[in-house]
Amino acid sequence: MGQLSRFSNKVIIITGAASGMGRATVIRMVAEGGTVIGVDLNESGLEETVQLALKTAGNGGSVSYMIGSVSDEKTVIKIVSDVVTNYGKLDVLVNNAGILRSSHTTETSVEEFQTIINTNLLSVFMFCREALPHLIKTQGNIVNLASTSAFFGHPYMIPYAASKGGVVSMTHSLAWEYLKQGVRVNAVAPGGISTPMIKNPFGKIAADVDMSLFTHLARPDGKFGEPENIASVIAMLASTDGNFINGEVIRIDGGNHS
Ligand code: NAD
Repeated sequence: MGQLSRFSNKVIIITGAASGMGRATVIRMVAEGGTVIGVDLNESGLEETVQLALKTAGNGGSVSYMIGSVSDEKTVIKIVSDVVTNYGKLDVLVNNAGILRSSHTTETSVEEFQTIINTNLLSVFMFCREALPHLIKTQGNIVNLASTSAFFGHPYMIPYAASKGGVVSMTHSLAWEYLKQGVRVNAVAPGGISTPMIKNPFGKIAADVDMSLFTHLARPDGKFGEPENIASVIAMLASTDGNFINGEVIRIDGGNHS
């Protein structure tokens, strides 16, 4: 990581900070001097993220957290408002929190579909809506977590794929809508990354899935990415190194969808 200090004096919200890529991004940005506020439902996971980030904090970097659900409107409004009140501004928003549930489409309830959309897509809309007025003031930016499932056929995760397709569309249109006001909006689209989310992706339906449909899901050598592979690209996009990247969705899958 060297002596980079791309986030010194930058106030950053990262959702889904208790685990996986959210945690890795917190650690990366705190190491680069950021003032990072992690958001998650999981308090013990957030505590662990803070302890890990403090070990490598650099250049004035600091870390704190707020507990709450990203799919609850009042919570989202309060989180953004509290951050701006407490830290005086907001420079970067990373919409990372998400859930994956696997099911056969014919067995997927409307309630399940809505839960996934609310967590993975509605949350992104609500956080962007609340953050944008503050990001205009700081000429800040947003990085959203999409997925290769937005572009390629990933079976048994239809609500999830739909939510990530929505994240991609929202990223493009928000970037265009706020281009003249100086706010950049980008996304990353990871392939299979080794986090708790995909430790057992097909859960109860595992015995019942058609493996011949999995050509897109794993690399030929079986290698998965690490959360740090994603955190480094999120950090690039959110920093001045990404200054002329806007409305872009970067696929990060080790070439799996080449
Ligand atoms: P993860 O399960 O390790 O972490 C997700 C975090 O989001 C957890 O800490 C969880 O508590 C939090 N979260 C879930 N619902 C929440 C809610 N309502 N409010 C607040 N926090 C909530 O997953 P990950 O693999 O690190 O995934 C991070 C993002 O990357 C997600 O958006 C995911 O869809 C996306 N993604 C993951 C992969 C992969 O292979 N792991 C691939 C492509 C995209």
